[in-house]
Amino acid sequence: MGHILWVEPIFHEKIWGGKRLKDVYGYDIPSDQTGECWAPSAHPSGDNTIIEGEFKGQTLSKVFNEHRELFGNIKDKEFPLLIKIIDACDDLSVQVHPGDEYAHIHENSLGKTECWFVLQADEGTKMVMGHHAKTKEEFVKAIENDDYDNLLNSFKIKAGDFFYIPSGTLHAICSGSLIYEAQQSSDITYRVYDYHRKDADGNERQLHVQQSIDVTNVPADIDQNKEFPQTMLENGTKTRYVDSEFFKVDRYQLNGKNVIKNDEPFMMVSIIEGTGIFEGNEVKKGDHFVICSDQKEVTFDGDMEVMISTL
Ligand code: ZN
Repeated sequence: MGHILWVEPIFHEKIWGGKRLKDVYGYDIPSDQTGECWAPSAHPSGDNTIIEGEFKGQTLSKVFNEHRELFGNIKDKEFPLLIKIIDACDDLSVQVHPGDEYAHIHENSLGKTECWFVLQADEGTKMVMGHHAKTKEEFVKAIENDDYDNLLNSFKIKAGDFFYIPSGTLHAICSGSLIYEAQQSSDITYRVYDYHRKDADGNERQLHVQQSIDVTNVPADIDQNKEFPQTMLENGTKTRYVDSEFFKVDRYQLNGKNVIKNDEPFMMVSIIEGTGIFEGNEVKKGDHFVICSDQKEVTFDGDMEVMISTL
């Protein structure tokens, strides 16, 4: 039998965070301004502890570094992917992430391409993705003039929507969203606009305007795929949202018993709805674990929705 690494989520408070991570998933969150649940994660800013089995008490990054054979012997210096659940009670800053090359030179980090599956969205909830500037000059001028209403491309979203956000794409998650995010394991965010919000001490958060101008794609390239291939399973369906050079993301809607094969270096699993049995263990929404490469197949039994991200 192979390895399954059950992980303990790590939470981050944010000025835009809320309490839906407690209300929806029952997590013990640090406050009613909790914005992010990181799991599975091996990133230094939120390295998950393993809570069961042979590696109990160790961090995911330690197991990744010392037991690469459990992760298909991939050559990556650091664990490559990071999964978050994001509760936006207020708007997130308008931001952009660098690609690998820029991040490597300027930040000694991976770049950040990310994607979002919308778990819940209040009526009328929006998001920002891309912009309307045709040239860098137009882009810079709009920033100088604080003309974000005309610059930003924003639109309404609903539960079940999926968006792929390549590095260099200007974006913002807006208030009323609960989002599953799969991303490269990077924490490099360039904030270009934060609505002139002030914290309790009257200070605005730091902006990174020059870096944002450097890395933002102009014109914006946001050709979104809306056709997601579905595969019938024994007792359910699998929807593939993305298969990119950085990650693959699938949603499994399971009604009954399903055996799922694993031929990946690892599978990052998040139960987003329902309850059931996974390999003899009771599981429920809000549980996260990593299926290692030596576990060649797994059995889910129950009514569940499961997000699985892999390389
Ligand atoms: Zn982002």
